[in-house]
Order: sequence, then structure tokens, then C-alpha cells
Amino acid sequence: MAIATTNPTTGKIEQTFEAHSEEEVERRIALAQSGFEDLRATTYAERSGWMRRAADILEESIEELASLITLEMGRPIAGARAEVTKSAKGLRFYADNAESFLASEQLDDPSVVGASRAGKTYAPLGVVLAVMPWNYPLWQVLRFAGPALMAGNAGLLKHASNVPQAALFLDTLFERAGFPTGAFQTLLIPAARVEGVLRDPRVKATTLTGSEPAGRSLASIAGSEVKHVVLELGGSDPFVVMPSADVERAATVAVTARNQNNGQSCIAAKRFIVHTDVYDEFARLFSEKVAALTVGDPFEDSTDVGPVATKSGRDELAEQVRDAVDKGAEVLAGARVPERDGWFYEPTVLAGITPEMRLHLEEAFGPVATVYRAADREEALSIANGTTFGLSSSVWTNDDDEEDWFVTNLDAGAVFVNGMTASHPELPFGGVKDSGVGRELAAEGIREFCNVKTVWKA
Ligand code: NDP
Repeated sequence: MAIATTNPTTGKIEQTFEAHSEEEVERRIALAQSGFEDLRATTYAERSGWMRRAADILEESIEELASLITLEMGRPIAGARAEVTKSAKGLRFYADNAESFLASEQLDDPSVVGASRAGKTYAPLGVVLAVMPWNYPLWQVLRFAGPALMAGNAGLLKHASNVPQAALFLDTLFERAGFPTGAFQTLLIPAARVEGVLRDPRVKATTLTGSEPAGRSLASIAGSEVKHVVLELGGSDPFVVMPSADVERAATVAVTARNQNNGQSCIAAKRFIVHTDVYDEFARLFSEKVAALTVGDPFEDSTDVGPVATKSGRDELAEQVRDAVDKGAEVLAGARVPERDGWFYEPTVLAGITPEMRLHLEEAFGPVATVYRAADREEALSIANGTTFGLSSSVWTNDDDEEDWFVTNLDAGAVFVNGMTASHPELPFGGVKDSGVGRELAAEGIREFCNVKTVWKA
């Protein structure tokens, strides 16, 4: 894929960028190494001050950044502004909490290990390569960079090829905020050149947010180099509605949970699994509300759903829906490519999904929802867990016993009860099964890129 800003609302290429030469990549890796050595010698107080300044820069640039997000990947402008604000909050969270998350800990009774003093400290790993996607072009990067830099690591960003202007803004953000030169930089390179960077001995660990094939490829290279890897891959999150739930509220939230960011979120609810007693009511309310969404120019404040970010993504979505409809799925809303420029797809609700349809097991990365009917909670759970993914999940119930049962039995990295999944800096984030390994955010996220060093003294 060319490194270019292509406006998904019009399909027009706005600006193309030259990839960095091999010499420039070498220069940047060397700078990252020296940036790491400078950064690790600084105090938490210094890093916190710079991190807060980076958050301030984001907020001072909110209109510029929101417009950039909307131009490069089509997110409706209100959501793009919210992404900037959330990113600033995430940076401040680690400015405030990194030191306590990484404080040394001692055993209360070191004599049990024959020591006078024993415990652990957290040390940075070094240069970390972050391969990031376009769907939240700031937030995905900054939820890595905030904790990684606060821990004393340096970051090298390989951003998605369709968000180069966001990548270039991030290239200078941390240096402008005061961090040592080289502590965080962008590499403008295509995916094919990631392997060379990851095999460089100065790069100590890596993280990828994106598709499963990209994650598998990166992890196999990291494995062969014995380098730590964190993966945040796709999801096909279940949204379970039980009879005790507030069905109207569940249907309203379901619309946002599926269609926010034009349906392109790993933690979007994608499969709506509804108890048969409330199925008809939920399916009617949900499809009416989806059909009422305003699809259009993402720069308009009134737009709910903009274009899919890439032509290939839109075409793939249309193909998944066509496959389901050809095999007998029922269309409750949408299922059309609108007659207009850009890569739009009508928000869609499908019912009657069967195992031979692609959408039964594949992630739909756009505004396409599938609705399933379940006879009881056991069947609802079986459908919910009947996927290779396990990122997050949402359960709607007002029965405490049912709530505990789903929390215990859902195979997912998170369970949200009577609400939609969202990421919060205060809570760990990540998946099981093919959705990934490791955790981002909270204390777990900052410790991922640390050497947990055991210290024992006779
Ligand atoms: P990709 O996984 O292809 O892209 C994500 C990042 O990985 C980009 O920076 C990309 O670079 C890079 N990349 C791609 N292939 C490799 C590779 N083999 N080795 C190293 N880096 C690689 O996602 P797409 O944009 O193609 O989206 C496809 C699907 O991925 C979606 O339909 C969705 O299922 C999933 N996805 C999940 C996201 C999430 O939040 N978990 C986010 C985005 C996508 P480049 O852009 O240069 O190809």
C-alpha cells in the first residue's frame, strides 16, 4: 500500500509520502537507542512533566488533529475530537500513576527466601517497535506510548500507511513536549520492512494492534528473535440481551456499540445474541434505530456514520454481506453500497446467520451487525463463545445470578454488564484466543514493557 492520505469520503488521494530510506531508518534506530539511554537516566518527575506537556499539546491542537483524523480515515468529527481528548487523558493518567505502578516492592518477611532483603524492581526494556492501525490513529499509538515512555523505554512507531499525517504529528509530539531526542519517532515504512527493524538487535520488544494475519506474522518474527510481544488483534464481540434487561436501553446502546467510528473498532459489539423472549422486540427496535442513522460527510456534526476507511475494507464488507444474503440471511436494515463517491456502506442488520456464512466466524470491520436468537442462557453463551476471537463482551441482564454466570463463563478479555465496551486508562485492555496476547492500559499495560527484576540480598 502506498504511504498516502486518501480521503475516504471522496476517494481522492490528497497527499503521498516517500518512505524513509534504509539510511534514514538506520539513523532513527540509532537515535532511538541514544534516546532510550538518555530517557532511562531521567526521573519520574521529569517524565511526568513532559508527558503532561504532551497532553497539553494534544488539547491545544484539537481542531487540527480532529480534522486530520476525519480527513485520513473518515471518523465523524465529534468522535475525532473525543479521541484527542481521550488521548490527552490517557497520557495524564500515566504521568500521574507510572511511579506508583513501577515502585519497587519488598517481601514482608525476606527470611523465607534466606535473605535480609528481597523483592522486585521494574526496569525499562529499551527500544520498542509499535506497529499501529489507522482506526484510532492517535489513541492506539498513545495508549502504547504513554506507559512505554513513562517506564523509560523509547518508542519507534510504524503507523498504518493510510494515516501518514497523523504519524508525522506523533513523530515530533514527545520531543516538542521535552522528552529526549529519539525517545519517540515515526518510521515511514511499508509493512514489508517491519521485519528488518524488528530483527535489529537494538529493538528489544514489539507490539501490534491490527489484523490477525499481521499479528501472527510479527509474533513469529519476535518469537524467532526471542523478543517480547504484545498483540491486540481483532474481535467479534458478543452483546447478549436477556429477558430481565432494559431492552429499549440495550437496543439504543447497541446502535452506538456497533456503529461508532463507522463500525471500525476492535471492541465494537458485532454479534447481538438475544433471548427468544425479547428477540422480536430487540430486533425491531435495533433495526429501526440503525436505519435512522445519518450516513454522510464525516465533517458534518450531524453525521452518525461516515465512510469505511479504505476501498478494500468497504469491498470486503459488501462481499461478506453478499455471501450471507446469498446463503439465506434476512436483511433487517441496510445491506447496500450507496450511490455516492467515497467508500460508504449503509449501516446493516442481518438475522438468520448460519455456520456456512462467512459472517458467522469472520469479523465484520464496518457498520454490519448480526442478530442471533437464543433459547436460554446456555445457548446464548455457546453462541457468544463460538468464535475464535475473545476480545470483549457485553451482557444485558438485571438478574445477579445470571450476571455472575456470564462474567465467569464468557471467554473474553472483558465483560461489560448493562453497558457497551470501552477502553479506559484505569482498566486493563486486551484479549484471549485469537484476539491477542498481553494487556494494555492500567498497571498491567506499563509493566508489559518492563524487566521485572528480582533483587535478593544475603
Ligand atoms: P493490518 O493489520 O493490515 O494493519 C495494521 C498495521 O499492521 C498497519 O500498520 C500495517 O501496515 C501493519 N501490517 C500489516 N501487515 C503486516 C505484517 N505482515 N507485518 C508487520 N506489519 C504489518 O490491518 P488492516 O488495516 O489491513 O485491516 C484489516 C483488518 O484488521 C480489519 O478488517 C480488522 O479485522 C483488523 N483490524 C483490527 C484493528 C484493531 O483495532 N484490533 C485495527 C485495524 C484493523 P500497512 O498499513 O503499511 O499495511
